[in-house]
Amino acid sequence: MIVIGGGLAGLAAGVALADSGWRVHLFEQRPFLGGRATSYVLPDGEHVDNCQHVTLGCCTNLEDFYRRVGSAGKIKFFDRLLFLDPQGRRGEMQAGWLPAPFHSTGSFASFAPLTLLDKLSIARAMLNIIQHKGDPPELHKAGGISMLEWLRRRGQTKGAIKRFWRVVLVSALNEELDRTDARFGVDVFWKAFLVNSTGYHIGVPAVPLSNLYDGCKTEIERRGGEVVLRSPVRGLKLESGQLAGVRFDDNREESADAYIFAIPHTVLAELLPESMKQSDPSLAHLDKIKTSPITGVHFWFDRPVMNEPFLTLLDTTTQWIFNKTALYADSSGNSNSAANSAKTTQYLQLVISASYELFEKPRQEIIDLCLAEVRHALPKAREAQLLKATVIKEAAATFSPEPGVDRWRLAQATSIAGLYLAGDWTQTRWPATMEGAVRSGYLAAEALLRASGTPRAILQPDLPADGFIQMWLGKRA
Ligand SMILES: Cc1cc2nc3c(=O)[nH]c(=O)nc-3n(C[C@H](O)[C@H](O)[C@H](O)COP(=O)(O)OP(=O)(O)OC[C@H]3O[C@@H](n4cnc5c(N)ncnc54)[C@H](O)[C@@H]3O)c2cc1C
Repeated sequence: MIVIGGGLAGLAAGVALADSGWRVHLFEQRPFLGGRATSYVLPDGEHVDNCQHVTLGCCTNLEDFYRRVGSAGKIKFFDRLLFLDPQGRRGEMQAGWLPAPFHSTGSFASFAPLTLLDKLSIARAMLNIIQHKGDPPELHKAGGISMLEWLRRRGQTKGAIKRFWRVVLVSALNEELDRTDARFGVDVFWKAFLVNSTGYHIGVPAVPLSNLYDGCKTEIERRGGEVVLRSPVRGLKLESGQLAGVRFDDNREESADAYIFAIPHTVLAELLPESMKQSDPSLAHLDKIKTSPITGVHFWFDRPVMNEPFLTLLDTTTQWIFNKTALYADSSGNSNSAANSAKTTQYLQLVISASYELFEKPRQEIIDLCLAEVRHALPKAREAQLLKATVIKEAAATFSPEPGVDRWRLAQATSIAGLYLAGDWTQTRWPATMEGAVRSGYLAAEALLRASGTPRAILQPDLPADGFIQMWLGKRA
């Protein structure tokens, strides 16, 4: 069978099928694996991630994938989230001794950047989510409702929206609250913060992202398959209306009994022939799925300026600062030069999700803006010299989780014989995340196995409910 695309979706499908005994031929257009969740080397030899990628404790399929390819030990997990506002007030989120869903109550109660009224309104909204087991009925309205609308209906204060809901959800979903389907927003809180006391644990790679995929090739080749880089698929070959192969440069063709296209929806829309879109009209609506941008800003300072592994900034353009030097420290097999000279210099990576406003701005203006914010937040950075800086803008970082977007997302099995789809944008019920991409790959593999008469469960279950939630759900069942 053939997989097209070596991002997380294609790799997850390929590795799962190889584990099921299939000979997988995976074709990736670029010279490296990982798709959007990858890293590369700058001309000066520095390894940079396309952007900082983080996972959460509730991402059970991504964890399973890392385990299959021998990368689970390359992710560092943290159980404390730190927030800092421009007045220097700090807040933290950490589980205490109380069982779920009250495990974060202690740190939340003392969260300085929020007022008592903000906290009471947030607590009310959380209780609403719990009461409806993460699935309030009003979210099922045709076309969906926006997260902002849902929060207004729940009487949230301005401070709660700006300094809590927006901070968590813009980072998690890469979209502003008025353009986010409330179903995704509510799901983040249910799965990551309420149902299980470890769901919010934040996992950060301790190596450059591309190192996480070293084991994929071995897994696929172990079953007689291959991973072919620098091989863009240019078209589909049809015979009597059926998919009969894929075409590469120089009219080279490859054929197989099944194909998983694990490429972005925008690319698929261009590759699919009109006749296929006519025979399955759902394939003709891919342009209805919009995209949203993320900007990453990389700073190298001449000395350490930050002690924490990462920080969330409130009320600034910069949303997260990751201390890459600290995160890479002590990781075996790390080839990052910044980490190796870590004692004297420090490499920070800043992330700005849904960065529409930055998109038209020149790179130097973005650097100046973020540098001023970093120097305000981190006093040691005021004296430090910025050795170099780079800005990476991703215009189509993720699909936009707009209200009602799910109706345009396609299932992994299609009506066309032998054609399967994977990718974070396919129907997983998850937003555009690494977890969503791996789920889509596993679902495509399951669909293919089912169709070939050898069904097998690959998708991993969600984290189980614990604490009071477990007791409460058990009682309701
Ligand atoms: C800046 C940024 C920050 C992000 N931060 C996070 C985060 O913190 N946490 C998180 O969970 N998610 C994050 N994401 C989202 C996450 O990266 C994606 O959801 C996930 O990687 C998508 O995987 P995919 O396999 O579906 O698609 P892709 O990664 O896009 O993979 C598609 C692959 O197909 C290849 N391809 C395309 N066309 C062809 C062709 N014609 N022939 C052969 N190959 C082709 C591409 O080169 C690519 O390798 C972020 C994304 C970006 C861009």
